[in-house]
Amino acid sequence: MHRQALIVGGGIGGLCAAICLRLTGWEVQVFEQAPEITEIGAGLQISPNGVKILEHIGVMERLESAVFEPEAIEIRMGVSGRPILYLPMKGVAAQRWGARYLQVHRADLITALSARLDALQPGAMQTGCPVRGYAPCKEGAEVILANGRRIQADLVIGADGIHSRIRHQMLGPDAPRFTGNYAWRALVPAAQLGALAPPPSGCIWAGPKKHAVTTYVRGGAVVNFVGIVEQRTWREESWSRTGDRQEALADFDGWAPPLLAILEQAEVLHKWALFDRAPLPKWQDGHVMLLGDAAHPMLPSMAQGAVQSLEDGYHLARALGAAVGPDIVAACARHYGQ
Ligand SMILES: Cc1cc2nc3c(=O)[nH]c(=O)nc-3n(C[C@H](O)[C@H](O)[C@H](O)COP(=O)(O)OP(=O)(O)OC[C@H]3O[C@@H](n4cnc5c(N)ncnc54)[C@H](O)[C@@H]3O)c2cc1C
Repeated sequence: MHRQALIVGGGIGGLCAAICLRLTGWEVQVFEQAPEITEIGAGLQISPNGVKILEHIGVMERLESAVFEPEAIEIRMGVSGRPILYLPMKGVAAQRWGARYLQVHRADLITALSARLDALQPGAMQTGCPVRGYAPCKEGAEVILANGRRIQADLVIGADGIHSRIRHQMLGPDAPRFTGNYAWRALVPAAQLGALAPPPSGCIWAGPKKHAVTTYVRGGAVVNFVGIVEQRTWREESWSRTGDRQEALADFDGWAPPLLAILEQAEVLHKWALFDRAPLPKWQDGHVMLLGDAAHPMLPSMAQGAVQSLEDGYHLARALGAAVGPDIVAACARHYGQ
């Protein structure tokens, strides 16, 4: 049976959904507003629940050279570096949870997902293709591109991230709530840090009213830093805003040498405010679904946003099974327990 899905957003959730639907016989089209895949984003922790999906849908083999498998997840005191907790992961996670716990750069994950999709259905993703909205149509829904073109399908998926236009149209303007935290983000080649490179783990460095997390990406060649600091006021929600080095160093003044070395040596320091959102009353409007951060954005401290987007795409395709016509709407509703 010929079924077509249009996916708004070629991020982690959109690409995973496209692959999973394609593997179950759908024809898919992904519309991504960015003109090309760039380095936006940083390190992601992919826990075993996400790795299992990447293995199952044939993406892991394209990602192997880019991932880093840490020895452990650990907690240390931010100032002294004194170890507090050490949970072995390498060789243990696969035994205990059935897959490895990995760290990866967001751009490498997107590249692997889009390569897999292209192998399954060449040309399925169109970049430089912003979507303006959607409309219901007979037996399905249509996507309205920014250039005014309309395309119909059996299913439209809004996987357009935290600032989702599809969510905005479905539910009106959202009301992000500043969490009282902002975050620093930095990448530094591990070789450049030498003896000051952080431990080969997912390491949480804890302190009063702030904490940092160090991980590795690019197969272990690059250290990824996220430092979260409490502050009462903020205005802007952006992942790409840059920050001042002296300000970052002042925030972590006196902290362990590996953290200060990262802040001193990072070419660019990003600073962004952490906003939260109340759960949405619904994620579906007939043949239109929301998925990933568009439906349920998650704070980075949970380290599950990317993985949850992968799970969304995978389970949505499973829930749809062989559904056609009105059964698609019912299958989507069942998937989201509505
Ligand atoms: C620094 C940082 C660290 C993080 N660490 C982790 C972690 O360790 N583990 C984890 O699981 N998660 C982590 N996350 C969260 C994770 O990156 C997100 O939750 C995840 O990327 C959400 O995936 P998504 O596909 O829903 O959205 P995105 O990946 O944001 O993709 C949305 C896509 O839609 C496109 N788009 C938007 N609007 C339109 C439009 N109108 N038309 C067409 N295209 C459009 C965007 O360009 C984008 O490509 C982290 C996030 C940050 C910022």
